[in-house]
Amino acid sequence: MHTPFCRHAVGAPTEYAAEAVRAGLTEIGFTEHAPMITDDFDDWHMFYGDLDAYVDGVGKATADHPELNIRIGLEIDYIPGHEDWIRQLASHHPWDYLVGSVHYLGEKWGFDHPDHVDSWEGRDLMAVWAEYFERQTQAAALGVFDIIGHCDLVKKFGHRPDGDCIELARPFLEEVKRKDSAIEINTCGLRVPAAELFPGDPILAMAAETGVGLTFGSDAHAPKNVGYNFALAVTAARRAGFTHGRRFAGREFEAVAF
Ligand code: ZN
Ligand code: FE
Repeated sequence: MHTPFCRHAVGAPTEYAAEAVRAGLTEIGFTEHAPMITDDFDDWHMFYGDLDAYVDGVGKATADHPELNIRIGLEIDYIPGHEDWIRQLASHHPWDYLVGSVHYLGEKWGFDHPDHVDSWEGRDLMAVWAEYFERQTQAAALGVFDIIGHCDLVKKFGHRPDGDCIELARPFLEEVKRKDSAIEINTCGLRVPAAELFPGDPILAMAAETGVGLTFGSDAHAPKNVGYNFALAVTAARRAGFTHGRRFAGREFEAVAF
């Protein structure tokens, strides 16, 4: 879940926590969009100077809601060449978990940015999907991320190649397995034009078969989306063959049956 520090989310952490209690959740995690290598890289990540205020804000939510386990991490963009920066972010604070995400392809194509959907025009969809999963394989191979976020985000606006694009996910999932990392079921996919979970059923089944870890995320950018459609996510996970999810504390995980 996010906070206003990323400049495109609303609600204080304590409001997300209150909503989680209302929804009957017992544990939540904040995973703000981590600072980029320079603060002017784009306009939708938190600033480097806000990292400590972010930790404090989540600390306030924890103090306000002692009945809830509140974890804190970062969602860090994987971009080739930024590896040292990523490691620096990882060691900035004793995070509970780190999510690695790919939101940029090529030099700096923000393929999932809602204001630039027309930048997809004329692209070879199979090539884009292949590059996307290659990047995610590299992200997993880095060995820093506990979870790879929304692992088929490339479908966000409904761009799907004609051929067997699902197979492109296999080397990625095998790398996640090698690193004993996890993917997430992210229910935000239901709120965007793709209108299905990230990842969809075929990749989720491949993930279960490969034996990677699993977490559940709403990707909430507003308190009202805390725990969004989790019942559907659990059903999909079971159908795919998963029996356990992971919870994290201090970069260690524990598998929990659901
Ligand atoms: Zn966001
Ligand atoms: Fe993301």
